[in-house]
Amino acid sequence: MAEPLPRTLTTMKALTAAGLVAPERAPSLEPVGARYAIAVPPALAALIDPADPADPIARQFLPDARELDRRPAELDDPIGDGLKSPVRGLVHRYPDRVLLKLVSVCAVYCRFCFRREMVGPGTPGLDEAAFAGALDYIRAHPEIWEVVITGGDPLALSARRLAAATAALAAIPHVKVLRWHSRLPVAAPERVTAALARALVAGDKAVYVAVHSNHPLALTRLRAAGIELVSQSVLLKGVNDDVATLEALMRAFVEARVKPYYLHHPDLAPGTTHLRVKISEGQALMRALRRRLSGLAMPTYVIDIPGAHGKVPIGPNYVEAEGDDYRIAAPGGDETLYRDEV
Ligand code: SF4
Repeated sequence: MAEPLPRTLTTMKALTAAGLVAPERAPSLEPVGARYAIAVPPALAALIDPADPADPIARQFLPDARELDRRPAELDDPIGDGLKSPVRGLVHRYPDRVLLKLVSVCAVYCRFCFRREMVGPGTPGLDEAAFAGALDYIRAHPEIWEVVITGGDPLALSARRLAAATAALAAIPHVKVLRWHSRLPVAAPERVTAALARALVAGDKAVYVAVHSNHPLALTRLRAAGIELVSQSVLLKGVNDDVATLEALMRAFVEARVKPYYLHHPDLAPGTTHLRVKISEGQALMRALRRRLSGLAMPTYVIDIPGAHGKVPIGPNYVEAEGDDYRIAAPGGDETLYRDEV
């Protein structure tokens, strides 16, 4: 069972009472709240400036009437999890790793969520029998080296449930890496207790937490438990689609000893057109970032190809074949013809 989230704002009425939504806008947003779950925990609510119409935190977590504007290209299951799910709660898309979707609830409901049709309060997570089925599948596939535990937000579970899941996965000899994907350290840092961090420790297995953050924010206790941290961010229009914000975000990660890992091109989730950028814009931002940041601070810009085809880097490209040579672009844009002598 996920623990209750005290003081999290979960209704239009609560958002209005907290002063985050103007009362005159509330009626037009009620249908959005009825369609897609709302949860704004205190740590995030405190960061929103209701007087700023372009507030990047509000843009990510407060309902927007444009969410009901669904475009033909948008998909209920944008990355095709369902096409690669051999047993309930498990996605096996790449040979050496699986996704394990433990829960369907989150501490915060992101307006750009790629699983928004599958998450929300009241949506059942994995029951005991389904969890046992997922473990059986992993045990029967020795090629599975890494288990990526996701949801929903798996860290929304109690420390006791997390410890049980950790122990069950750590007991599988060929599983060497556990990677938890969570927005909790950013959305509700007070819930990342020492007990929760300890619940993720898996003996001699490597444990990573991929922290989802799209805008510079603080981090916590996980490292003290010996857990490695990597970042995941989604490139979002009006939130972080400018080089200064992305630079600040990546620097904040590195300073907090979180390795920038992925910058996701936004998925074709329903009702998210107003939050999407073009791939060409993302590539230009990555080029500009490369001019400012070291390799350590650079994320990989990736897209999850619709239809469960997997995730690939989408540039920008710095090298082009030219006869037997290669034309290579420097970070500043200068091009050099490189003779590939072997
Ligand atoms: S935390 Fe993740 S799964 Fe939950 S709403 Fe946000 S993006 Fe979706």
